[in-house]
Amino acid sequence: MATYIVLLGPPGVGKGTQAKILAKSTKLVHVSSGDLFRENLKNQTELGKLAKSFMDKGDLVPDDVTISMIRDRISRHDCDAGAILDGFPRTPTQADALEKMLTEFHGQVDAVPYITAAEDILVERTGGRWSCRAQGHIYHQKFSPPKKEGICDVDGSELYQRDDDKVETVTKRIRVYLDQTMPLVEYYRKRGKLLEINGMEAVEQVTQKLLSALKK
Ligand code: AMP
Repeated sequence: MATYIVLLGPPGVGKGTQAKILAKSTKLVHVSSGDLFRENLKNQTELGKLAKSFMDKGDLVPDDVTISMIRDRISRHDCDAGAILDGFPRTPTQADALEKMLTEFHGQVDAVPYITAAEDILVERTGGRWSCRAQGHIYHQKFSPPKKEGICDVDGSELYQRDDDKVETVTKRIRVYLDQTMPLVEYYRKRGKLLEINGMEAVEQVTQKLLSALKK
């Protein structure tokens, strides 16, 4: 049975950073819906053009489009053993669709780490966030700066700030998260899958808590 871990939490809480670390230590693939949309945007695909207007406003891309993008991604062979899902599902409709597709792909959601932090911290973290163009490695100008300004330590590519990390858009994204994604906390709690993790500590400490919660 393929193992799927869903990372749940507000924008800026560190899901992407933790997902990358977790993917390395579990050898599961990191699947980020936001990265997939950004890749489509960069390549100017039809999907990218459609997603852009929603992403720019801090809104969610419609469920049907998002679900079929994820379905395509996890049907690939590198997901045969499972994946770390980062940013998906984000609505109860997406969570139901995930259950259905995993039955088809002989997988299941094993655990849902729910990473939390206070809103002012989320705004501070997203405001100082830099991502690498090549592979989406994440830095923060204050908490985890790159060795050389503007350059990714891992692959040497250029670092950029996401348009949707501006304060106004982040505030909107947090509101959208509270309205549309928060119901998933109860959804997964009811199913006995939820693991609550305090995301206000340093990256390494959050990782330790995450790994020990997953071991249990
Ligand atoms: P993220 O990188 O996860 O913060 O996602 C960036 C943006 O991509 C979000 O603000 C949404 O516009 C869009 N997006 C990412 N994942 C989803 C999803 N599961 N459902 C709908 N829209 C999404």
